[in-house]
Amino acid sequence: EAKHKGKSAYARFTPEMTEVSHERLQMESHMRKALELGEFELFYQPIIETASGRLIGAEALLRWNNPAMGLVMPDRFIPLAEETGLIIPIGEWVIREACQAAMTWHAVTGLDNLSIAVNVSPRQFRDPGFTDAVMRALNTSGLRPESLELEITERLILDNSIETADILRQLDRSGIRLSVDDFGTGYSALSYLKSYPFDTLKIDKSFIQDVLNESGDASLVRAIINMAHSLGLTVIAEGVEQEAQSHFLKNEGCDYSQGYFYSRPLPEQDFMHWLETNHRATL
Ligand code: C2E
Ligand code: MG
Ligand code: MG
Ligand code: MG
Repeated sequence: EAKHKGKSAYARFTPEMTEVSHERLQMESHMRKALELGEFELFYQPIIETASGRLIGAEALLRWNNPAMGLVMPDRFIPLAEETGLIIPIGEWVIREACQAAMTWHAVTGLDNLSIAVNVSPRQFRDPGFTDAVMRALNTSGLRPESLELEITERLILDNSIETADILRQLDRSGIRLSVDDFGTGYSALSYLKSYPFDTLKIDKSFIQDVLNESGDASLVRAIINMAHSLGLTVIAEGVEQEAQSHFLKNEGCDYSQGYFYSRPLPEQDFMHWLETNHRATL
């Protein structure tokens, strides 16, 4: 019986599986070295005030420039970085780099109220050193806490833990802004919005993409905006690709918008260029 089991377990270990785990291992060891080698890079996507078209800040989006793999997108390596815990040092680097970049924009444009939004994964958030790392990044860069927005998904809130609530309150008290990313995809109860100190809801792009095609999504987006406002939260629409979508959002009073219609995420130099041109045009 045992022998039979052992044999079938062996038989299920196919060459494709060997390849997959080999690729994983290779990916992991590459990722370990990537920080030292300076292979990570932040792209920045503008966030726009929907009513005026004015720039209010940007979201930092992580990319990995690997000589063998090319430009690797976050969906391909963040899950593994979370599993292995590598997201902790990588995430610290992201926050430091993003705060420094925001200080540079303030200096270049004279607009010292531009904000920078940074994504935080659950593993990173739960690390005991997390809040200290955030405070260090603020102190070292000189960025005001009000200019930093941390994006957290509903997945994190689902754990309902006292620790999560405590950390959110601590961050809030320090003046940092907190947003719920991918809002509407987490299947969580809405009551957390009342008990946790969030400032902003980011409506997931899947709702925005169908806002003009399916009447259901239009009423959902309208309802989310109204609910957020009645709770004192601001709203950002993600994934705005068409002018008609931006008109809809403007009519519905959605505070801010982000998406390819305004700009794709840009490397820092291109973002700076975008900033100078755009900022001059709106002045
Ligand atoms: P997210 O935070 O929801 O970021 C928005 C994603 O939508 C980005 O994908 C962005 O490039 C994409 N996007 C922006 N505008 C449009 C649009 O108009 N249409 C469409 N179809 N997509 C648009 P990206 O850069 O591939 O990032 C994917 C996810 O990876 C992010 O989703 C975030 O959850 C995660 N991520 C990115 N950077 C970091 C990071 O530094 N740390 C952590 N923990 N996660 C990150
Ligand atoms: Mg985000
Ligand atoms: Mg707050
Ligand atoms: Mg999102």
